[in-house]
Amino acid sequence: MYDLVIRGGLVVTPEGVVHADVAVLGGRIARVEPGIRDPAAQEVVADGLHVLPGAVDAHVHLGVPIAGTWSRDDHRTGTLAALCGGVTTVGDFTVQDPGEGLVASIERRRDAASSGTWSDWFLHANVTSVTPAVLDEVPLAVASGVRSFKVFLAYPGMRIGPEVLREVLRRVGAAGGLLMAHCEDQDVVDRAVAERVARGLVAARHFFGSRPPEAEARAIEVLGGIARDLGHPAYVVHLSSAAGLRAALDARRAGARLHIETCPQYLLLSPRPPRGLRPEHLVCAPPLRRTRDRIALLRALARGDIEVLATDHCPFTSSQKAAGAHDFRRVPGGLPGVETLLPLAYDLALRGALPLERLARVLAEAPARLFGLEDRKGAVREGLDADLVLADPAGETRVTATRLHSATDCNPYEGRALRGRLTAVYLRGRLAAAPGPDGRMEPAMGRPSGAYVTAAHDPASRSRHHDGTP
Ligand SMILES: [Zn+2]
Repeated sequence: MYDLVIRGGLVVTPEGVVHADVAVLGGRIARVEPGIRDPAAQEVVADGLHVLPGAVDAHVHLGVPIAGTWSRDDHRTGTLAALCGGVTTVGDFTVQDPGEGLVASIERRRDAASSGTWSDWFLHANVTSVTPAVLDEVPLAVASGVRSFKVFLAYPGMRIGPEVLREVLRRVGAAGGLLMAHCEDQDVVDRAVAERVARGLVAARHFFGSRPPEAEARAIEVLGGIARDLGHPAYVVHLSSAAGLRAALDARRAGARLHIETCPQYLLLSPRPPRGLRPEHLVCAPPLRRTRDRIALLRALARGDIEVLATDHCPFTSSQKAAGAHDFRRVPGGLPGVETLLPLAYDLALRGALPLERLARVLAEAPARLFGLEDRKGAVREGLDADLVLADPAGETRVTATRLHSATDCNPYEGRALRGRLTAVYLRGRLAAAPGPDGRMEPAMGRPSGAYVTAAHDPASRSRHHDGTP
């Protein structure tokens, strides 16, 4: 007797799309095969629907201080937005205070989410205050289940230079961790910003040229060279440009184990704001690029050179963004993204721009594997958590901020009509979100039931859930 059987759907796996039933027992996927006849406590008919893996958004920022303000989504609203968009697991980042230890920053971040999360979540450790004592803690962090670490090659106060980067990668790699890097060369950015300031070009619309693609390419060259020397893997977050892509692929060809992530905004948004929004609404770093960059990245994602699609979710309200309308240096940088990630990728798939099995890889299989969650998350596969999304390819989704759950009043995809529509989201086998009477996705659980998930620190051991069921 199964808890749930989803019958007759088109199951999207990393290997392809298959007609199969999905049986769930105890929160896990028990079987994926056609014609499961065993009885079930609940049966769902999914004729004509896709059965997608719950998405793993490996890159979200929940409640972080930026430019004198705070990003609007906290752990509660950000994970509610995630769940209602079919993202069943999010990867959040610690915020390391100056001089704070890594383990302390991890514990503080877990405490910040103690009021509960709607989706499952895991943590990456920011390494923004690098001291010998902090580096000594890397193995401890890995043993605690946080095995990904992020450094910044940009931003005064946080950036690290090549020698420190080499040492951090050496320590993270030796501990079996994965180093993530924000790749923009601050010196290139500083020159471009100074040139604009000297000409008085500081309104928000002048932001987009102030962080040129060469800054990204230059930083990736440095990271790639060090990764190749050391033989340890590294992960480029939010790749934005064709020049950056070329630098990353060159580094790979030279032997670096470089993993690449991009975000929907670098595939789909131009610096020209949609109706109702202003340039400052679209300020994020790296910035939105040109058409040829978007085309190059989408092709690289579709053919597998870019392995992960995540969002860098970090929303602000119109009034927060307005503080920088006349001076782009004062705009808090960041966009909402977690709730539209899967609908936008599904639309790309239905339009033929992204094969469905590739969607399953870039939104679930690859992030789960790279961040050590692969024994619980990442695919519609026997033995894994029953994180499932039902989607109707004949439906339509209209993006508008007022129907989304993120705690902001603006959305960069405002007004877009997407092919396809989510019809149910399951978290560990329980219905977690579904369309309400007006068609808006709503939580189906009475309270947040997300679990904190830790990474297996070596491939032989298993990742585990804490403070969640089961
Ligand atoms: Zn980020």
